[in-house]
Amino acid sequence: MSYDTKIACPKCEWEPDGGEYWGCSACGHIWDTFKTTGVCPSCKNRHKFTQCIGHVGGCNESSLHVNWYREIDRNLKEEIEKVEKLIPAEIT
Ligand SMILES: [Zn+2]
Ligand SMILES: [Zn+2]
Repeated sequence: MSYDTKIACPKCEWEPDGGEYWGCSACGHIWDTFKTTGVCPSCKNRHKFTQCIGHVGGCNESSLHVNWYREIDRNLKEEIEKVEKLIPAEIT
């Protein structure tokens, strides 16, 4: 599994591998947050922060979702930066 753009943790450089590691803090849905730029497919809440996944090699730190994208398209970045919700996507 790979993404259209390079994605890595801003703090430790861990790269997500396509696994469904994130749980929505609003509804509990589990999904791969990088497939939807942080939007929960179930309740449509957008998660501004994304946690790095410790048990598969990450650092467990939360970072702004937009900061994970390394070669981000400017329009996508603006879209993500419009986020006003501050709910984190939590590790399940
Ligand atoms: Zn949700
Ligand atoms: Zn990390």
